[in-house]
Amino acid sequence: MTGTAWQDFLQRLATARQLRLFLDYDGTLADFAPSPDVIQQDPELISLLYRLAARDKFLLAVVSGRSLQHLRELLPFKGMLLAGTYGLEMQLPDGTCHAVLTLEQVRPTMERVKPRWQQLLDGQYGFFLEDKGWALALHARFATLEDAQRVLSAARNEVEALSPGPAFAIEHRPRFLEIYPVEANKRRSIERILAQHTPPKALPVFAGDDAHDEEAFSAVLDAGGYCIRISREPVETRAQFQLETPAQMRQWLTWLENA
Ligand SMILES: [Mg+2]
Repeated sequence: MTGTAWQDFLQRLATARQLRLFLDYDGTLADFAPSPDVIQQDPELISLLYRLAARDKFLLAVVSGRSLQHLRELLPFKGMLLAGTYGLEMQLPDGTCHAVLTLEQVRPTMERVKPRWQQLLDGQYGFFLEDKGWALALHARFATLEDAQRVLSAARNEVEALSPGPAFAIEHRPRFLEIYPVEANKRRSIERILAQHTPPKALPVFAGDDAHDEEAFSAVLDAGGYCIRISREPVETRAQFQLETPAQMRQWLTWLENA
């Protein structure tokens, strides 16, 4: 990024006393894993975030659609806030955990959906059913687009036939289907983190790469903060700034560390 606005932004970051840094994980801090069940620690990223988290200036919060357990394994150190399942479950910097809902409110619905989805995947190639505890996701990254469309549409019909009710939302993309509690929402999560876990004077900044992050951008903009969208292509976004890749994102974080 270049330009006056970007330079002003960097200046603001350099001089701010404290920054609340909200960071998405996949597609923002790291390239997408080959499969969502792959948990591959990235020593370079761990070291970078560990150093940032150790400084009083940086209040780090990694906010991801991954389960909290995955995030803990990817980033195995304290000092950061980890918000999993779009913020439904959280680990505070001191290691204490809490969740917005109880699993008892969620599991009965998931247990009804899961066997039906499993049945649809029987004999199919290129699909992966991920049980996040709080959510169920059907990935079709390695299926043909035709198979993906057919199976995910059938899976969506199965969910709708079960009428899970207004407490649950469905996300359906060409190669992805997920059922999750509406409380699992990055915007709500960011509002909670700002209200309950952030000093009022800390400047909020959010970096993310998809539609869930766009929801969260609104909360950060409302709080007078800044947003960075990660995308290789020009994209319609609420964010003031854009970086192209996780590699550029890491360069920016390294710049922050030394600013
Ligand atoms: Mg992402």
